[in-house]
Amino acid sequence: MSVYKILTDPNPVLRQKSAPVKNINAGVLRVLENMRDTMYSADGIGLAAPQIGVSKRMIVVDPGENYLEIINPVIVSREGEQNRSEGCLSVPGKVGWCKRARKVKVTGLNSQGETIDLEAEGILALVLQHEIDHLDGILFPDIAFEVRVDEL
Ligand code: ZN
Repeated sequence: MSVYKILTDPNPVLRQKSAPVKNINAGVLRVLENMRDTMYSADGIGLAAPQIGVSKRMIVVDPGENYLEIINPVIVSREGEQNRSEGCLSVPGKVGWCKRARKVKVTGLNSQGETIDLEAEGILALVLQHEIDHLDGILFPDIAFEVRVDEL
């Protein structure tokens, strides 16, 4: 088990546009494992590769139902609207509200290199949008209509 240090704003890696993964090799699989271990050890519900310093398009999520890892994720459609509070392991001490789609369809690859198509709504849809934003260097306060100090 490898738990990595999670980079926090204003680390410049968090602001880079991540590169697509070209080959799913042993190094990529190791990064995914490290992302999973790091997310769970930080009690997170999602993590993007740049948060552990890897500027590649990979995310892991688990909003409580099941664990998912997606390589080169792309949002192909959005529907409706939701604005729940959200936080970020890379933006400690803050909570914010962003206008997010209520439902999204996401396509990408799993760790075997197979195409996955996913329909998500509610919290899973929010987490996917949040994590995919990380791959483009976007942090939630950038797009939030309200940010507050997290008192917890
Ligand atoms: Zn985040």
